[in-house]
Amino acid sequence: MRQKLVVGNWKMHGNAADNRQLLQGLVAGLPAVGDVAVAVCVPFPYLAQAQSLLAATPLAWGAQNLSEHARGAYTGEVSAAMLSDFGCRYAIVGHSERRALYGETDAQVAAKFVAAKAAGLVPILCVGETLAQREVGDTMRVVLAQLDAVLDLAGVAAFSGVVVAYEPVWAIGTGRTATPGEAQDVHAAIRARVAARDAEVAARLQVLYGGSVKASNAGEIFAQADIDGGLVGGASLVVDEFLAICQAA
Ligand code: PGA
Repeated sequence: MRQKLVVGNWKMHGNAADNRQLLQGLVAGLPAVGDVAVAVCVPFPYLAQAQSLLAATPLAWGAQNLSEHARGAYTGEVSAAMLSDFGCRYAIVGHSERRALYGETDAQVAAKFVAAKAAGLVPILCVGETLAQREVGDTMRVVLAQLDAVLDLAGVAAFSGVVVAYEPVWAIGTGRTATPGEAQDVHAAIRARVAARDAEVAARLQVLYGGSVKASNAGEIFAQADIDGGLVGGASLVVDEFLAICQAA
């Protein structure tokens, strides 16, 4: 009943010429991929390019971050309304690289989530534990605290139609993935946490796995009961690899 979703996270990669090739390749290949929703989250300067190449195609696009503020003296920031202006459907919120490298707090992440929702965007809320946290058995506490921070500020009703991505930090860009069972356990805990507040919202919630997803491991990961697709970094930059991951969903 939940549609599978695969989202590419380009991070700070790309240029106008390469993006065109990549996007055109994806659009050409998507019809052969089954019933799966697909999107790409591109750097801000390329949103206009994504909009012009992807409008009227089944490939959706989005941003990798946004400001929690609506407007004002925030040099270098980009608002949710600006993303909507460029046709974005999605905005990644609270990616671990933003949390670790730019000091984004749970409170800021929650505020960004609310700002995205208010503008009609679909936030992709990222949560995940570090290796040190997993090794001391802290995974569930950390992940659920990250989730609770947003549930508490936004309310469970705001989780209707949004996406959560479980991305163990130790699996991002490392070539190391959670086993399908490890990922499923956390996904089930995320869904249960939302279900404790609203069972219907939880049943519809798309929970993606992210962290070194490749064509070769996507099938068994996406087959888990509570895994509704993937958030894909490195492998989303290669047409055939990304299409194969979409196919596996
Ligand atoms: P990766 O990145 O697929 O390159 O591990 C995933 C992500 O950071 O979203």
